This record gives sequence, structure tokens and C-alpha cells, in this order.
Amino acid sequence: MTKHKSLTDYAARRFRFAGNALLEFSDPFFAQIDRLKADMEAAGKHFVSFANYDYLGLANHPEILAEAKRELDRLGVGALASRLVGGERSTHKPFEAEIAKFLGFEAALTLVSGYLANVTTISWLMGKRDAIFLDELAHNSIVAGAAGSVAETVKFRHNDLDHLDHLLARRRADFRHALVVVEGLYSMDGDTCDLPRLLELKEKHGFWLLLDEAHSLGVLGETGRGLPERQGVDPERIDLVIGTMSKTLASCGGYVCGKASVIKWLRYTLPGFVYSVGLSPVILASARTALRLMQEETWRIGKLVQNAELFRDSAHRAGLSTGPAIGRGVVPILFKDDVETMWASQHLLASGFYVPPIVQIGVPKDQPRLRFFISAKHTPEEIEGVIACIRDMPPVSEEARHIVATAMKGASRPHADESSEPETAPPRVKRRAESREARV
Ligand code: PMP
Repeated sequence: MTKHKSLTDYAARRFRFAGNALLEFSDPFFAQIDRLKADMEAAGKHFVSFANYDYLGLANHPEILAEAKRELDRLGVGALASRLVGGERSTHKPFEAEIAKFLGFEAALTLVSGYLANVTTISWLMGKRDAIFLDELAHNSIVAGAAGSVAETVKFRHNDLDHLDHLLARRRADFRHALVVVEGLYSMDGDTCDLPRLLELKEKHGFWLLLDEAHSLGVLGETGRGLPERQGVDPERIDLVIGTMSKTLASCGGYVCGKASVIKWLRYTLPGFVYSVGLSPVILASARTALRLMQEETWRIGKLVQNAELFRDSAHRAGLSTGPAIGRGVVPILFKDDVETMWASQHLLASGFYVPPIVQIGVPKDQPRLRFFISAKHTPEEIEGVIACIRDMPPVSEEARHIVATAMKGASRPHADESSEPETAPPRVKRRAESREARV
């Protein structure tokens, strides 16, 4: 009989492998930012977050708040059922039509989160003799969708389309259908993929293309329509686009866009849609207003570009590495090791800049970073201030290194049978899973 371990022992061990020892040094996670801001301001300090997705600075826009309140009074908070069997609100389909039209697609379907949109679409779409080709830095929701599918998962090196071409040449004939999933703007590195080249490969090998535009809406392209607009590609050539309302649209929920007949099929069958509640009417009203404002107040997109480029250029002038980031909504600053990253985050917080570290989980373990979400609302002083603060930070103290080194003793890789992936996951996915758990 295999040795039985209590769940608490097992959880403690797994948490150790996930890097909880670093919390002995400091725990910057789950900060109550409303309270933090209030406390800092009461102490006469300026507080600014670079950790929130509010790309166009719409989060507290008075028109969004007013619409949300109006809808709350009119329709209440909850959708109260799956739309298929419980009926929907008169606002669900108009929003879906608007987002589809804006992005250049025939139709769209909304779900309660962007994460769910990826998981359920990818796992539902692909069957037994099919394959899912993923960029190795794909967001966890994409990896989880592939892991939950019966199809085989094949990973290609990050943004290396020669590698994808090679893998497809070697393996495409083994499968009935193939799906390639890429992201418009990668959430940890802030770089983009080469869509025109990907479409050439699509012609050459024959696959369906799913583009995750979670971080691209309102961020890429002159009018914020995302990577296709930035790279001059007709969206019609992409099979599915997945997006979220939690970032530029400053609310919550996800959507899938595609051809009307495909979306109609998903509307009646997609498990994460059919067996889950519809979007709250309050959320819908907020997202719909944000989508309208984004098109009316076009200066916001230009301001975001200006800010993100200022951030990237200031970082470079200060001798900091921003990795492959193109200088749009997401720009990381890479550090030597975990301790230095935690140290930098702590130092920034003491100066009023909230930027939690991305260490151990979420990115490859040898590439810890502070990941900055730039907003149209940031001022040049805030951007230059945060860079100066990193440039001038004192070196990591010996005491901090000692605390972490002591705490990290005994934390080793988990045994193969303690991988975080479900048993159905193919080996390639399993190996990376632990480091992807917190890719957010
Ligand atoms: N895709 C990507 C690339 C993401 O970065 C995220 C979230 N950060 C999601 C999907 C999930 O979106 P949501 O948080 O709205 O569920």
C-alpha cells in the first residue's frame, strides 16, 4: 500500500516547493491596497500602484460608476442562472455584438472570467486525435485548458516560430486537428508574437489559431484593437480571439470571438458557459461603458503608449533590464535573484510604489522580476520616480540574504508523483506546471 500522508502535511510540503520560504523575509502579497493607500496618504506620502491592470485609467471613471449604479438599481447584482436555461438579460447580447464588431469578428460570447474562457474553450475544442501547440510561456489558463483536454499538448520555444514550423512539419500529420495558441502581449514579458508569419504557417500546415488578447485590448494598435491592428492583419484570418474585461475594461469577465456559426455552437455547448452563471448585469454595464469610453476618449491610448515608452526608456537609461518587452502595457524589470527582487519590492513600497515581486512561481525560477502594469493614469513623475527609486536602492543586506538562505534550506523539487498537474496532463506540461501556477 502506498504511504498515506495527511492533507495538511502534503499541503505544507507542496507550499514549500512553491517557494513559501521567501515569505519569511517579507510577504508583499495580498496587500489591502485601499487601506495601504489610505494609510500612506494619511502619513503624507504619495501612493501609486504599478500592479493593477487599469491600462487606460478607466477604473474609477464617473460614467462607469454611474452606469454600474443605474444598472444595479434596474436589474440587481446577479444573473441568477446559466443563460441557456435561466434566461439572459437584455444587455448580454448587445455587449457581445459590440465587442465582436469592435474587434472585427462576426460574434462573441461572454463568460464569467478570462481564465475560464481559455480553460473551457481550449479543452472543449480539441478531441482525442488532435493536438494543441502552445508557446512555452503561455498563461496558466491556456496551459490548464490544454491539460484538461484529451488532445496532446506540444510546446514550442517562446516566440520561436521556426521551432513551431519544425514541430508542425514533424508532427502535424499525426493529428486530425491542430490548434496553435499564442498571446497578443505576453503577460510576464510584455512582448508580442509575429502574427503575419504565424498566418503563413497556418496556410502551410493547416491549423486553427487562437489568439489570447487579454493584455492587448486598448493597449496594442492605434485604436486599441489589439495585435491584428498593430501588425496590419485582418482579424478574419484568426479563428478565435479570447479576451478579458478585467484589464482595459476595468471590470471582470471574459469573451470568445469568432465566426457566427462557431460562436453559436459554443453558445449551446461550451461547458464553462452552459454550466456557469451569466455575467452580472452590473459588470456588463461597466464593461460596456468602458468600451464606449475607450473609443470616445482616444487620447487614453496615446497616453498609455507615451507612458510605457517613457518607463522602458527610463529603465534602460538607469541600466535596468526590461527583457524582451516592447514597451506597451506590461514591462518587467529583471533582477539577479529572488532576494534582490523581494528587496526591491520592499524598498519601493517604503517609498510609496506598490509593485509585488514575481518570484519562484509565475515565471521561470531563474528570471525573477518586478512586473509593471503601466496605465494612462500614471504621471511622468511617478514613472521616473519609480525607476529612480530602483536605480538608487541600497544593496541587499547580508541579514536579508541570511534569512532567506536559512528558510530555503530543505526546499527541494517535489517528487515526480507530487506534480501540481492533474494526472491527465502530458509530461511536457507537467514539468513546467509548478512554475506557472501563479502566472497572473
Ligand atoms: N490570459 C492572459 C494572458 C492573462 O494574463 C490573464 C490574467 N492575467 C487571463 C487570460 C485571465 O483573465 P482574467 O484575470 O480576466 O480571468
